[in-house]
Amino acid sequence: MSDLFDTIVSLCKQRGFIFQSSEIYGGQAATYDYGPLGVELKRNVKDLWWQEMVYGHGDVVGLDAAIMMHPKTWEASGHTEAFNDPLIDDKASNHRYRADELIEDHIRDLRQDGDMEQATAVHERLVAALNSDDMAGDLYDIIQDEEIRAPRSGAFDWTPVRQFNLMFETHVGPVAETGDRIFLRPETAQGIFVNFQNVREPARQHVPFGIAQIGKAFRNEIVARQFVFRMREFEQMEMQYFVKPGEQLDFFAEWREKRMAWHKRLGVREEKLRFHEHEQLSHYADAAEDIQYEYPIGWKEVEGIHSRTDYDLKRHQEYSGKNMTYFDPFEQEKYIPYVIETSVGLDRTVLMLLCDAYDEDEANGNERTVLRFHPEVAPIRAAIFPLSKKKGLPDIAHQIEDDLRPHFNVMYDERGSMGKRYRRMDEAGTPFCITVDFDTLDDQQVTVRDRDSMEQDRVAIDQLTAYINDHSTGWSRDAV
Ligand code: ATP
Repeated sequence: MSDLFDTIVSLCKQRGFIFQSSEIYGGQAATYDYGPLGVELKRNVKDLWWQEMVYGHGDVVGLDAAIMMHPKTWEASGHTEAFNDPLIDDKASNHRYRADELIEDHIRDLRQDGDMEQATAVHERLVAALNSDDMAGDLYDIIQDEEIRAPRSGAFDWTPVRQFNLMFETHVGPVAETGDRIFLRPETAQGIFVNFQNVREPARQHVPFGIAQIGKAFRNEIVARQFVFRMREFEQMEMQYFVKPGEQLDFFAEWREKRMAWHKRLGVREEKLRFHEHEQLSHYADAAEDIQYEYPIGWKEVEGIHSRTDYDLKRHQEYSGKNMTYFDPFEQEKYIPYVIETSVGLDRTVLMLLCDAYDEDEANGNERTVLRFHPEVAPIRAAIFPLSKKKGLPDIAHQIEDDLRPHFNVMYDERGSMGKRYRRMDEAGTPFCITVDFDTLDDQQVTVRDRDSMEQDRVAIDQLTAYINDHSTGWSRDAV
C-alpha cells in the first residue's frame, strides 16, 4: 500500500474517523467502525445523496427494504449461481489474489513497457476468459502462459483458480439445521426490484420514475485488505430508474452525467475523477460505466452506472409468478420496464473524500496536516474558541455555540493554545474557526479563520450563520 494511504488510515484511527471493528479482540477483518468524526462525514454524504436523488427529482422516491430477503430473490437475481470471484493463491507467500486483477495489472505493465501488441492480445484473452464457461481454467492458463509472478513474493508457484461465492449465509429459525437458509443481501438493488409494484402504485408514479435506497450490503470478500475500499459489511446508495424499453440509452447518458456532477459537487478534484467503460458487459446489460477516482492505491471504481434492460423484473416475475408489467395509461401499452441503475458505495465515497481532502502545508513555520473537505461534508462545520477563560469570554463563546447548533454541527473548545486548537480542527477538516477575543466585548464581532487560506475575517456575531452559509456554498477546491 502507498505511504499516503497508510498515513490516511492512521489519521483516521487517531482522530476517530474510522477504525478496525472489535479492535480489543484483535479486530474483525475487513469490517470497520466509524467514530464521531467519521459518522458525521458519512451522514453528510448520505444526506447530500438523498437530497440530490430524491428531493432533487420529483420522479424519484425512497425505500428502506429489509436486509434479510426471501432466498428465492437471489436465485432470481442470479447471485446464488454466479456471484463468484476467481481466486488464486501464491503458494510461496500464501497470499490470495483475484486472478482477473492479476491479469489486468499485467496488461497495464505491458502497456507501460510499450508492448501494445501483447497487451491487446492478453486483454482479448481476458475478455474471452471472463465470458467463458470455464472462466477459472482459462484465467489460470493466461497466468501460466504469461508467467505472471506473485506481486508480493515474486514467485511463480500458483494454486489452480477457484470460484468463491461471496454471499454470507445464515439460518432463520431456532435450530440451525432445520431453519431456512437465507443470505445477507450482497446489494440493496434487489429490495428495489421486488418492491417495484408496491412502491409505484401508492407513490402514484408513472414510467419513467426511480426508487432510491441507502443501506447495508454484505459480501464475503476474500481479498479484502484495502481499508474501507473493500469491506465485508458496507453501505450502498442505489437508485433504479424504470424506463420504457428503447429509451434506456438516453436515460443512461443523462444519469451518467448527473452522477459525475454529484461527485464534483462534493468538492472532489475534477482531474481525479474519470469514467471507465466496462471491459465486458454482463449478459443482461446493454451499457455500463464506472466512475473511478484516483485513490493513492490507483484508479478504482467508486460508482457503477448500468443499463440492466428488463432482466431483473423479468426474472422476478418468472421466479415469483407475480406480474411485473407496467400499463402506460397515456400510450395504452403494456411492458416490463427497462432499468438504469446508479450504484455508489458510501464507504468508498467517504474514503475518496478523505484521500482528496488530505493535504500537508505550513502554518506559521510549522508543518500542519489539513483535511480540505467541502464545508458541506466536513464533520464539524465550525469550532468556537474563547481566546481566554477570563472576562466572560467562554460565556459569549457558548452563546454563539448555542445559536449556531440548530444550523450546523459545531464544537466548543477552550483547551490548549490557539495554535493547538487550530491544528486539531485542521486535522478534523473544520472549515471555520471562530475566536471570541477581548475586542468582542466592545464590538460584538469575532474573528473567523479560514481553514484553507488561514486568513481571518472580522464578522459580527449576528451575521455568523449567513457568513458560514455563504462561504460554504461558494467553496471550491480550486481556490485553495
Ligand atoms: P469491485 O469490482 O470493486 O468489487 P463491484 O463492481 O463488484 O466492485 P458493484 O457490485 O457494482 O461493485 O457495487 C456497487 C458499488 O458498491 C461499487 O461501486 C462500490 O462503490 C461499492 N462496493 C462494492 N463492493 C464493496 C465492498 N466490498 N466494500 C465497499 N464498497 C463496495
